[in-house]
Amino acid sequence: MPVDTSEIILRGISGSPGICIGKAYLVDKEGVDVIEKYNINPEAVRKEADRFKTAVTKARNELEDTIKNVPEELRHHAAILETHLLLHKDKMFYGKTIDLIKTERINAEWALKETTAQAKAMFNDIPDPYLKSRAADIEHVSERIMRNLVGRKAVNIAGIDKRVILVAHNLSPAQTSQIQLEKIKGFITDRGGRASHTSIIARTLEIPAVLGLDKATSIIKNDAIIIVDGSAGIVIVNPEEETFIRYDELAKKYALRKADILRTSAQPAESSDGQAFSIMGNIELPEEVVAVKDHGGDGIGLYRTEFLYMNRDTFPGEQELFIQYKEVAELMYPQPVTIRTLDVNGDKAILGMETPDEANPALGLRAIRFCLQKPGIFKTQLRAILRAAAFGNVRLLLPMISGCEEIRETIQLIDQVANSLKKDQLPHNRDIKIGIMIEVPSAAIIADQLADLVDFFSIGTNDLVQYTLAIDRGNRQVAYLYNTLHPAVIRMIKFIVNAGKKKHIKTFMCGEMASEIINLPILMGIGIDALSMAPQSIPSIKNMIRKISVSESRLFLKEVLKQTSALDTMQLIEDTYGKMLTNGV
Ligand code: PEP
Ligand code: MG
Repeated sequence: MPVDTSEIILRGISGSPGICIGKAYLVDKEGVDVIEKYNINPEAVRKEADRFKTAVTKARNELEDTIKNVPEELRHHAAILETHLLLHKDKMFYGKTIDLIKTERINAEWALKETTAQAKAMFNDIPDPYLKSRAADIEHVSERIMRNLVGRKAVNIAGIDKRVILVAHNLSPAQTSQIQLEKIKGFITDRGGRASHTSIIARTLEIPAVLGLDKATSIIKNDAIIIVDGSAGIVIVNPEEETFIRYDELAKKYALRKADILRTSAQPAESSDGQAFSIMGNIELPEEVVAVKDHGGDGIGLYRTEFLYMNRDTFPGEQELFIQYKEVAELMYPQPVTIRTLDVNGDKAILGMETPDEANPALGLRAIRFCLQKPGIFKTQLRAILRAAAFGNVRLLLPMISGCEEIRETIQLIDQVANSLKKDQLPHNRDIKIGIMIEVPSAAIIADQLADLVDFFSIGTNDLVQYTLAIDRGNRQVAYLYNTLHPAVIRMIKFIVNAGKKKHIKTFMCGEMASEIINLPILMGIGIDALSMAPQSIPSIKNMIRKISVSESRLFLKEVLKQTSALDTMQLIEDTYGKMLTNGV
């Protein structure tokens, strides 16, 4: 049959920006194809169960090898693979599949398929987005076992020895973490979304990726030439000469622009009319400090501390926390490090620990509420932070504040902790600057009262948008309404910043809204003092700030405030700043 080589354009979701052109390398065509069901003789049932057990052991060994070889820059993503390891022996798979083989006398593949479907359905029914996303983990684990059951060899991504673009039905975190930058130019998948772990890894590696293409693996043949435009979420298969030349030019321009922007990232972010902005990085682990420095960050604006509390059975002790915080403070000194206290539950459940059973976790016992109900756990963290503050420029940030009482209670605990540290004769710093996340509408509305109690505000738009617009981000039906440019969100941000200015305290922003260049004219017009974001976004944000004049952005804001929809605001940004933004990377 002749191979169709006409140009095809596929549209998906932008997973990671950038353009690459190269040969397709098909990794995984729709997992294991067709599973057949057949019955087992009573005397062969035990052997069938053993066949399943062997497949699980092989799958575990494979995964252990992968974890050992995860490259340094992706070390912290290995935690997800450790959870996969645990899932292999989970009762839900292991016990239930063996039970099914024995009671129904069916083949292991069919039994595994059944238990996987049941487990996935169970997770999919859970409203909590964090738990819902665990359904994907179950699928990854099940696919690996299935492949071993049917005797198919795993594609070894680490072993690919030519420069290619990966084309996969679904790349698991385990597979993505094997990517070697000198071999893999980019990747595309049928499945996956912007918030998937796979796309986060692509952005960390800074390679282009388009996800959610649906049928890429059935349309694209091995070795076909493809163009991946990760910024636009487009893939072009078998490009015509004209298309090829156009994208080749675009890719070169993109690479040059990116290199240019990175080269200037150490310079200050000063608007075209001379106002300086502090642009900082968000981190979760000490290892990420390097990325913040390499991308020209002026400090750490958000150190999310949840990571050390996840995937373990006990809470971390003071010394363990202190060592990590001190390391970050010393590495960044004299630049500031903003350590946010524990923000667990909601969409960040800590597995294996006291996770409350709540119908509405986003409105439940999360963040500061959890900490104030567990003063022992909270004080341990506060002690570690005050001690680290003796070794650098450390600030304290409290998440999910909804009223003055929570701040007063926390300050009391900080005083107690400082007294006990004094008694213990441990070096510490009580004069640490204390700030709060503004991410609940009630906090925004009483920002003037809160400002009397703290030294700075940091707007967490990820949650503020969710709570202001009443949109559960786990609910696909209303996801189209989640928009940071909604007039209510813009007014609320302006209101918070104004309240801070009246009380002479600074307002930062550390939600995702801070990392997108299209939002800059509005944020600069509002008068935000500092922005904090994923380290990879710092250079382009700094670059764009240098092109914008604050006085013009103030006039622009007046026009923005007249708009009655996010769409109109978007159009206004395009009309006024469009050309500048398309060159912004
Ligand atoms: C936010 O809500 O915007 C924020 C930065 O916090 P997190 O994403 O950790 O909830
Ligand atoms: Mg938040």
